[in-house]
Amino acid sequence: MTCLKREVALPGPAKAGGLDHNAFDIMLPRAPGLTPVEAKNGQRVKTANVPPEGVYLPNNNRLAPHMRSPDYVQMSTAAAITLGVMPGKMYGCGCTRCLNLLLTYPEGCRANCAYCGLARHREADRDYADRNFIRVNWPAVPLGQIIDKVSSDGPATPFHRMCISMITHPRSDADTLTVLKAWTDRIDPATVPVSILSNPTTMTAEDVGRLKDLGADIFTVALDAATPEIFDRTRGKGVASPHSWSKYWEILRAARDIFGPQKFGAHIIVGMGETEHDVLTLVQQIVDMGGHSHMFCFFPEKGSLMDHLPATPRDQWRRVQLARYLIDYAQVRVEQMRFDAAGRVVDFGIPEFELDTIIDKGIAFRTSGCPGKIQQDISACDRPYGDSPASNIASYPFQPGAADLRKIRRQLDREKPGDTYSEGEELEIGERC
Ligand code: SF4
Repeated sequence: MTCLKREVALPGPAKAGGLDHNAFDIMLPRAPGLTPVEAKNGQRVKTANVPPEGVYLPNNNRLAPHMRSPDYVQMSTAAAITLGVMPGKMYGCGCTRCLNLLLTYPEGCRANCAYCGLARHREADRDYADRNFIRVNWPAVPLGQIIDKVSSDGPATPFHRMCISMITHPRSDADTLTVLKAWTDRIDPATVPVSILSNPTTMTAEDVGRLKDLGADIFTVALDAATPEIFDRTRGKGVASPHSWSKYWEILRAARDIFGPQKFGAHIIVGMGETEHDVLTLVQQIVDMGGHSHMFCFFPEKGSLMDHLPATPRDQWRRVQLARYLIDYAQVRVEQMRFDAAGRVVDFGIPEFELDTIIDKGIAFRTSGCPGKIQQDISACDRPYGDSPASNIASYPFQPGAADLRKIRRQLDREKPGDTYSEGEELEIGERC
């Protein structure tokens, strides 16, 4: 018995007569459809012109065009529960350690990334404030209300980090500065440091410098795609979206120069058609620059142009998670690892007993991202169930327990004799619900 709802968008069974990785040829996005004129640029919301009324919970259908940044931001469901603006419980974790804030406008994001729930093509059927993003809803909350609450909590705040997520919008650069300044005017960055999840398409190196000057701690670039071909197919010309691989790398290099070692990073989604060798070569490149990679397991976001495609098989994901951890935190290099003809990891490049020790610590399988206050290799940004359902976890938002580790070992095909996994044992009522 389990208290978790069943979901249908799951990875295929491991090696059940199929692939144990998402190959390039099958990970093809659908073409975006046409948007009626009356739905473009948030027109429905602007026409209704209802005044905002404090916290907005998604699907309230209050079409409030003035509910926009910098006065308003959206926050993840986990952050809203932790802040106390929304009721709810999360499987396995009492709270999130990262206050993820997303800029919001009735016009929404003007880009069209194929895997993203916020993409422009969705304006035909869903207003921006009601769109799901990394599998959850994002309530809109007045910025002043958020700052008042975190500021009054002082050092007792549950948050180890705040992150401003920019989107592709003409106001995004200026409003990010305004949100950051409003935050650092009231909240000591030593208490809650700030990360920026940037939008390189609209930015210059000077913009990166201004964010650093205003007190941002870490700057990240969401490459998302691991190769230029996948980038172009999922967030560039392939889906009528404005982003380019070269511009993203220009801003990533600017972040390296301006923020310095360990203070910049790149987001990468695993399972969009790249090989394991592709993604781990990129991870090594970022480490060699002095940064970190923050990994996401591809999940077919409902309403996105890739919602018909399979989630990343857990075998592929666990191999990449483990290898990425070794490169980022254990000084192992991609050149030490061995790969098969399909680019899959077949040897992690370190002795078996060392590998076993790292697997058993479990940290490699936790959500990766900017660090919190516990230790450098434990992310504040735990994004509960942002890349999988709780019934089949990809990134663990909590420390994996003994049953979780048995499951992980089965997914890696590295079960210990006499300590094998029983299907569903980690979900039993009483352990975490
Ligand atoms: S730019 Fe970011 S928010 Fe906008 S569609 Fe692409 S991934 Fe989504």
